[in-house]
Amino acid sequence: MPRSNRPRRSGRPSGAGGLPPSLRRPAVTEVRYAGQVWVVREVRPNDTGRSYRCPGCQGEVGADVAHTVVWPAETMQTVENRRHWHSVCWAARERRRPGGSFA
Ligand SMILES: [Zn+2]
Repeated sequence: MPRSNRPRRSGRPSGAGGLPPSLRRPAVTEVRYAGQVWVVREVRPNDTGRSYRCPGCQGEVGADVAHTVVWPAETMQTVENRRHWHSVCWAARERRRPGGSFA
């Protein structure tokens, strides 16, 4: 019996060690700021219910609004070194002085 009717790839890898998802990597940019290079990623609103402290204005950044996440490019991204900024505050970062533990 010829195998002419093989099932198509369903996208679910059947074995371990598949290709890295490099084609699905989220768009990030790298920006030099405050003496180091930061990886910058725009975050879509989500409903995790979390909130963060914006380093720019020290205000609250709710997860339910689009905002900007940055972390030092030379480090692994961890919960500790990620910073959640209001997108407008990140855009205006050159007019702000990084303070506290940020720099
Ligand atoms: Zn802010």
